Amino acid sequence: MRTMFTLDQNDLPKRWYNVLPDLPTPLDPPLHPGTREPIEPAALLGLFARTCVEQEMSTDRFIDIPAPVLDVYRLWRPTPLMRAVHLERVLETPAHIYFKYEGASPTGSHKTNTAVPQAYYNKLEGTKALATETGAGQWGSALAFACQTFGMDCTVFMVRSSYDQKPYRKAMMSVFGARVHASPSRETRAGREALARDPNSFGSLGLAISEAVEAALAGQGTKYSLGSVLNHVLLHQTVIGLEAEQQMQSAGEFPDVVVACVGGGSNFGGLSLPFYRAARERKQATRFLAVEPTVCPSLTRGEYRYDFGDTAETTPLLRMHTLGHAFMPPPIHAGGLRYHGMAPIVSRLVEDGIVEPLAYDQLDVFASAVLFARSEGIIPAPETAHAVHAAVEIARECARTGDEKTILIGFSGHGHFDMGAYTAYLSGDLVRAEAGSNACTGTPAGARLYC
Ligand SMILES: *Cc1c(COP(=O)(O)O)cnc(C)c1O
Repeated sequence: MRTMFTLDQNDLPKRWYNVLPDLPTPLDPPLHPGTREPIEPAALLGLFARTCVEQEMSTDRFIDIPAPVLDVYRLWRPTPLMRAVHLERVLETPAHIYFKYEGASPTGSHKTNTAVPQAYYNKLEGTKALATETGAGQWGSALAFACQTFGMDCTVFMVRSSYDQKPYRKAMMSVFGARVHASPSRETRAGREALARDPNSFGSLGLAISEAVEAALAGQGTKYSLGSVLNHVLLHQTVIGLEAEQQMQSAGEFPDVVVACVGGGSNFGGLSLPFYRAARERKQATRFLAVEPTVCPSLTRGEYRYDFGDTAETTPLLRMHTLGHAFMPPPIHAGGLRYHGMAPIVSRLVEDGIVEPLAYDQLDVFASAVLFARSEGIIPAPETAHAVHAAVEIARECARTGDEKTILIGFSGHGHFDMGAYTAYLSGDLVRAEAGSNACTGTPAGARLYC
């Protein structure tokens, strides 16, 4: 049986898909942090590349991928689509399980799909350096790689808990020429204030964003780059779903279920949005499942309202599902899923009943990740493992009902820099969040449970 569906490099998509004109309900506009009035695009130009700001609000359904970006994409794209037949056998399920493997990228996750165009547009517009934050280190590595490719400086504020857990991620960023600071750092006012409040702070993505934004505004020729959440990031990531659409076609199937993990929503959006469009065209009732950790449940337990993207209240306000911008998640191993907010596009689709959110405990997630690794030979990133677990649960349900569902997993990255997490799991050091406990407070005492 054929289990790997590769694409010819000539079939690499030449355009990204922009879902904005196809949303059932238009997005609410971002608000200015000072006036709380809809923000003028010009106000964003101090932070972001002009082209990214234009793409953020574009109503064009398809946007050309620039030739120099395609040229860099060809280092690893198209990525393979695989059918997980060994996992299907282990689960004795009639379901067909496919996964789109983004671990094939230079830094091991989907993040390079947007890092490369963001660095490219900045370079074209004369930016000399980019500043950013990183949670698990995946986004920092991706932007370091992209900046290096186009000859720009890169500064990364890395959330303290990951900085300590993942020294090799930092090493990788250094290999690609980036400067890396643990966040909270002494480099910025936001960082120094956080350290004054709590010298042992593990940090959070929201805080690291404040530091990176501050550094970008202070730096000469420096701009800021965000690895998730924003519309233009999801746009760039649609290269995943556009490839997968062609590959599913060559497998002779269309997914009944598309499932991916959500931190800020970019790999989920990138895979599912092209299928959302295709499913509508085919009038097919495909389900779209967005999977998050129970301890950082923005979609399943957050409110849908305007909130800041960062802790220090410097970013525009976005209408999204949020746990509040002061939220400090416990330092779970899926560092990329520790964000208080969610992409406005994904949030809107949840409100409109098109995307279904799910939350799982880290312990169950790792059990499925190990099952996947042992059957398919690929070790999922802890973030990706959330999607894998949801797929395993559905496949088990199919085994009970005899339902022959086609499941497509967004396999956002491999876990080769996360072996500490697997060691903790295998040695029994990971503990389940207690039922009913409010793990969301993220107190140091509660947090010890997860690391
Ligand atoms: C960053 C990351 C995520 C979460 O980010 P999204 O924007 O929600 O995709 C998920 N998986 C991996 C491997 C990541 O690096």
